[in-house]
Amino acid sequence: MSNIDIEVLRLGHRRGRDPRITTHLALVSRAMGASKFLLAGDEDDKLFENVVSVNERFGHALDCRYEKRPLKFLRNIVNSEGNRPTIVHLTMYGEPFKTTIPSIPTENGVIVIVGGAKVPGEIFKISDYNIAVGNQPHSEVAALALFLDALTDGEGFNQEFPNAKLVIHPSKSGKDVKEV
Ligand code: SAM
Repeated sequence: MSNIDIEVLRLGHRRGRDPRITTHLALVSRAMGASKFLLAGDEDDKLFENVVSVNERFGHALDCRYEKRPLKFLRNIVNSEGNRPTIVHLTMYGEPFKTTIPSIPTENGVIVIVGGAKVPGEIFKISDYNIAVGNQPHSEVAALALFLDALTDGEGFNQEFPNAKLVIHPSKSGKDVKEV
């Protein structure tokens, strides 16, 4: 189990176009060890309801909230002990993730920023690390999953899912789901 406190910030969500991909970002965050998912751009209660429904069925692992002013939030951010977490921005223009991750300080937590349609230039400056998962454009969901897997040294999936009503047991064939 990873003991890094991870929050994911999704910038520039568009309610008309992005619900599916942003929901996938939240579900990857939940499944791979993040404790919080912050949504910036358009407010979207429906998206949060979907994550709450997954939490209720499969265990509460992710808190979601809307962040109206992400830049202000990032400028002032401190963790519960008053220390500033490390800010990591995922961008195809950044440094290679596998070789850079070992130098990323994690003791005060990590905020992982995932961009949207247009990423403000200040995000590159305010971030402690601009990290690329390959220097080609692809998917924010793929970038987040690969980054979280490497950051947590493959332990992201090995977390607790408290109060789960449904638990899936690995099966060679078919679905093995237990109601708790
Ligand atoms: N055009 C946007 C911009 O201004 O940078 C990027 C759009 S891209 C589909 C959305 C997000 O996916 C990016 O902001 C970044 O967080 C993530 N992303 C896409 N490709 C990536 C890569 N190769 N490495 C890291 N993150 C990537």
